[in-house]
Amino acid sequence: MTPVVQAQGIHKRFGRLEVLRGIDFEVRPKEVACLIGPSGSGKSTLLRCINHLEKIDAGRLYVDGHLVGYRQRGDKLYELRENEIAEQRRDIGMVFQRFNLFPHMTALENVMEAPVRVRRENKSQARERALELLDRVGLADKERTYPAQLSGGQQQRVAIARALAMRPKLMLFDEPTSALDPELVGDVLGVMRQLASDGMTMVVVTHEMQFAREVADKVMFMDGGVVVEAGTPEEVIGHPAHERTRAFLARVL
Ligand code: ADP
Ligand code: MG
Repeated sequence: MTPVVQAQGIHKRFGRLEVLRGIDFEVRPKEVACLIGPSGSGKSTLLRCINHLEKIDAGRLYVDGHLVGYRQRGDKLYELRENEIAEQRRDIGMVFQRFNLFPHMTALENVMEAPVRVRRENKSQARERALELLDRVGLADKERTYPAQLSGGQQQRVAIARALAMRPKLMLFDEPTSALDPELVGDVLGVMRQLASDGMTMVVVTHEMQFAREVADKVMFMDGGVVVEAGTPEEVIGHPAHERTRAFLARVL
């Protein structure tokens, strides 16, 4: 089976700072990969490379068997045009730390927006599906509510529904619960847990070790732009082999 994400020797620099220094990993269909590691280790950059919000400097990155951001002819690479990149990105849902909903749209309108505008879906069908998705994230009663009237956790769940509305093959989460009040974290993790058990392929940057332990198929510990160790949650979180991993876990657990 084609891996959903395949990263081979990824390097990324910002000026003189080499942020990713040779990253290799694979995420297979229906797998959940959790990326953990200290602040500044390159986790967000790696996620952003997966949907070509950042261009890699070396290596190869494939999503669903397709080279991200480029077309290969012979041994030459040609960068895709903006519209082709946008098309590639449609299959990837992304949820950030900050819930960037459209403030002037209701929860329902936020979820319907991309399917109608980008995919040109029929409005009444898109509406029906958006209602289903709001129900799935536990917000069936909030369809007419504007983001400002929702809690952070509710906004984040709308953001998840909005990403799902595009029927992504892959969901990327970048610390989706880090900006939330502690009592709101559980509901968002609950939705993600459900999504994982429904078979969504996910890459999740998180400091929620309990979630990683229970939901992840693989955990990758990053530090200084490399994957220091990767394996099952039991291996990486339960029995870390490296001192850097142990030191990190001692701080977050
Ligand atoms: P993490 O998500 O693990 O905290 P990031 O991927 O955000 O780490 O950042 C890794 C490093 O890259 C940090 O030193 C950060 O300051 C730097 N960095 C991230 N984005 C940029 C950028 N657009 N320009 C310059 N430096 C950046
Ligand atoms: Mg980050």
